Amino acid sequence: MGPLPGLKIDPAKVDALGRGTKYDLCSSTSTKRKVEGSHGIGDVLRGGLCHSFTGNGRCVSLFKTLYTNACPLDCRYCTNSRNSRGSARTFSYSPEELARITVGLYRSNRIEGLFLSSGIGRDENETMEEMIETVRLLRGIHRFRGYVHLKILPGSSKEHVREAMELADRVSVNLEAPSKSRLADLCPSKDYERDILARQRYVKELSGRVDLPAGQTTQMVVGAAEESDREIFDRLFFEYETMNLRRVYFSAFRPVAGTTFEGKEKEQSWREHRLYQVDWLHRVYGLKREEILVAFDDDGFLRNGDPKMAIAVNFFDSPIDPNSASFSELIRVPGIGPKSARRISLLRKEKRIERMRDLAALGVVVRRAGPFLKIDGKCSTTLDRWIR
Ligand code: SF4
Repeated sequence: MGPLPGLKIDPAKVDALGRGTKYDLCSSTSTKRKVEGSHGIGDVLRGGLCHSFTGNGRCVSLFKTLYTNACPLDCRYCTNSRNSRGSARTFSYSPEELARITVGLYRSNRIEGLFLSSGIGRDENETMEEMIETVRLLRGIHRFRGYVHLKILPGSSKEHVREAMELADRVSVNLEAPSKSRLADLCPSKDYERDILARQRYVKELSGRVDLPAGQTTQMVVGAAEESDREIFDRLFFEYETMNLRRVYFSAFRPVAGTTFEGKEKEQSWREHRLYQVDWLHRVYGLKREEILVAFDDDGFLRNGDPKMAIAVNFFDSPIDPNSASFSELIRVPGIGPKSARRISLLRKEKRIERMRDLAALGVVVRRAGPFLKIDGKCSTTLDRWIR
């Protein structure tokens, strides 16, 4: 971070607490492609700055930091854990210090908001109180109107959850694993029901009374607890349907030197990508759980191929005519999304669709959609090239 006029800051502290958030996700915007060099830009796995979407869908840059990297818990993948050899030096902000740094970054046009997570510190309620005080100072003293995402620490009191919701735009409680037994493999000292689900329920209950513009989110580490994709998928549904979550984020496990899991194999990034795809098919396309299940193999894992293609092959008995297909049929065709399905519906009110070129002009990826469509009884290509 460059100098902030009029602010005395400890660069080692800012760096350590920024890097400490590398597994805290608030967006899924980095590329899965490999970029040469260790200091690229746009990588959400690096701490310090990240992007997120506000309640009205605007993308904003956030100062992403821990309040403290001191933690008495024992999450086996985490460099801040009490068992990690990597957490020799601990740092903490004070509420005044962190509020001033955030405002300094905002005034120098480097950020538009704050993403604040933390280790537990001495006690979860004491640390949560100080995190809340930071946002209270930002809102009250500094008149900060920017976006704030606040992590709810495991085991925080209901009163703290309410205060966090009154000040922040978004709050999140990290699930980390899809079930109690899987969490026990990752973080033996965390209780799935008491520390996590009970806090998510507080947020849900309070949502009727407290305005939380960007809602509640969570995240799961993928591949560290030997869990299947199906276990993650079932939990994802539970989160959307029972806890009213706005988003679920995934983070493919990467071993970190000094942690208990340092020798564990890293998870392939395509697995995270395929989970985001099935999440998208449910959340944005509105596909039902049973429909999506065909994308999983008998062991409960997603294949490394587009799940929408596997679902479409199962869903369609024969190609459909875009001139007469329903909206719900159109969005199930690979290469057609909600936007292009709406454009097709609008266009055919004015004229008949006669060629695949008409669809390409509406944003349809005809190379993928072709095998599922017929115009005037003719199909331009077959499924053979997709199914081996
Ligand atoms: S609660 Fe777990 S993941 Fe969070 S800082 Fe502590 S040890 Fe790390």
